[in-house]
Amino acid sequence: MEKTFIKQYHTYQKHLWEQLIEGKAHDLTKDDQALYQTLKDMNPVKPFLEQAFIDHHPDVSKQLRAIEQQDHPQPEAILRLMKTRDLLAQAQGYDDYKTMIMNLDHIKELSVKKKLIAKLQTDQKRRQTLIKQHGITYDNVFQVVNQIGLKPVAHHPETIMDQLFEQLDIPFARKQITCVIDSNGIAGYAQKIGEGDIRLAARPITSLNHLKTFLHELSHAITKAIQQDTSLNQFLRSQSYEMLAVILENMFIDEVCTQTEKETLRDIQIILDGRLITSALFEFDLNDYPDNIEDVFKTIVTHTMPLEDPTSWSQDTFRFSDPLTIQYYPLGHLAYQNLAHIMDQEAVPQAHRLLWIKALLLDNLTDIDVGGLI
Ligand SMILES: [Zn+2]
Repeated sequence: MEKTFIKQYHTYQKHLWEQLIEGKAHDLTKDDQALYQTLKDMNPVKPFLEQAFIDHHPDVSKQLRAIEQQDHPQPEAILRLMKTRDLLAQAQGYDDYKTMIMNLDHIKELSVKKKLIAKLQTDQKRRQTLIKQHGITYDNVFQVVNQIGLKPVAHHPETIMDQLFEQLDIPFARKQITCVIDSNGIAGYAQKIGEGDIRLAARPITSLNHLKTFLHELSHAITKAIQQDTSLNQFLRSQSYEMLAVILENMFIDEVCTQTEKETLRDIQIILDGRLITSALFEFDLNDYPDNIEDVFKTIVTHTMPLEDPTSWSQDTFRFSDPLTIQYYPLGHLAYQNLAHIMDQEAVPQAHRLLWIKALLLDNLTDIDVGGLI
């Protein structure tokens, strides 16, 4: 049963890859049906897979795939999807979908909120300066960060991969990764679509933010290639999966960037953290179904940065495709900062830092406690 699930999951990822990167059309509701049936047959479904059991459920699948087709997802459609997820989580014995995710990821909402708010406060002064300097709003952040520090960037995906794989000394991992660079393609994507077949897509590196995105996706690809476990344990919970990628991304920045590039990337990170934290804080509150959603959204966002469109809350893919995961990006950055501080205190030389994390990844990837770093 487990083997069937893993095979079906990889096929689903293969179809997603072909749809997103190669422009082939697939009916993903068929993959959802197959995955759901296998999970249902497990009876009872393992706690680890409870989220997948809900995410591939026919009721969720139908709504989600329809939303993903829309250019501007409607707030009503998002709320209907949230309600469906909640009802299914309740059938599994949880209060709601949010409580289920927190439970499976071993996190507590209040403590996560406190950490995110503290991070906002730490960066506030510099963020305000940058917001004024670049005319940043909640709505334009992802376009603006691509323009910051824009000048010919002397980095190429293949050269970076050569350098990092040599430093990490993992030729077996390099062989598994196929990298597609397309200036018209999506910003960044990495997935395992079969045993020994990992795909990585990115845009050419024409700005420091593109470099950052490439290093992030490369981190996912490397983590998947290093993972030797072929059982269900190969699937990390989203907390470990995303936070680990953010930690690695920042360690790779330390390796490949000049001092000036690192300083600009620090500013980009402060801007992105501000945007992601407000989105995460809003999502926690949204899941309590306030009557005045737009007011809640406006209050949370404008505390940190200007907002152009108070109805834009339903546009982030985090509201439907990857619900309740956005907090792991800023938390991953916090974990990296804490880790870097520890390594500074221990005076770990730069040359040893990547090998240290490689040892950690090879040793115990499944049980890795990334949350312990925040
Ligand atoms: Zn990621």
